[in-house]
Amino acid sequence: MVRYIRQDESQRDKPIGVESPRCPVCGAELDEDDYRLRHYSQLGCWSCPSCKSAAPALDVVASNIREVPEGFLIDIADSTEQLGGRDFAVNDVLVPCTGLYMVYNLLAVRIATALLGCPAEVFRDVVATFDPKNGRLQEYAVGGRAIMTNMAKNPVGFNQNIHMALKYPALYAVAFLMDDMVECNGDYSWVDGIEFSMLRSAVEAGVPVFYGGEIADPLDRALSAAQITAERADTVADVLAKLADDGARKLFVIANYHALERVCAELDRLQATTKQS
Ligand SMILES: [Zn+2]
Repeated sequence: MVRYIRQDESQRDKPIGVESPRCPVCGAELDEDDYRLRHYSQLGCWSCPSCKSAAPALDVVASNIREVPEGFLIDIADSTEQLGGRDFAVNDVLVPCTGLYMVYNLLAVRIATALLGCPAEVFRDVVATFDPKNGRLQEYAVGGRAIMTNMAKNPVGFNQNIHMALKYPALYAVAFLMDDMVECNGDYSWVDGIEFSMLRSAVEAGVPVFYGGEIADPLDRALSAAQITAERADTVADVLAKLADDGARKLFVIANYHALERVCAELDRLQATTKQS
């Protein structure tokens, strides 16, 4: 059963993602015209011109998605046929995270917890105080500078993170840090699928971009191909040393799974050091 998010056309983001969407029934490739609404990657409201299948009716819907300084406010509603006889409806859920994919995650959590009998009020309270402290969408402050870390492990994830940074309303910088991924067995061709070109106008407007880590070379190659001027920096401390400003610029650190742990350990140290001084 496919669930997706309903938004007003005015709120609709430009679809991003590099995977060609395919019909889950017959496997035919779907293009933009086959979507009435597409959020990113293959997610959205599709219909297949080959086998005439279409996205199934919604069981649970997130709607009225409002961006607020803390993240999102959303309403969750049931469709007419309640899944498992449960009531999923809950309004004004504050999601203290950025990234549209978090709305999808939240819907999954709402469905799972409601099926387990979690009351709407408890769900709302727990979500509003969600603070995972695992490096995903984690906020730090080092020397007066706000820093946010997040993980990306494939082109879709990287593209979502780039999109999130681009929407930041004040000064910012972006750093991509990647350490060796043993499961790639040396093949990092997928890095070429990251749409770094989305950053081009931001870079032209003065947004600094950094890249580094154990596998900096594929990042260098993909950034160059996208005509993005970026500086090599292998650690957060390297990035901070190169950021010649007074700390007013928020830093987004996008790290792959293999780099995130050492990035967070470094930020814990840097944050503790600057608090003491
Ligand atoms: Zn089909």
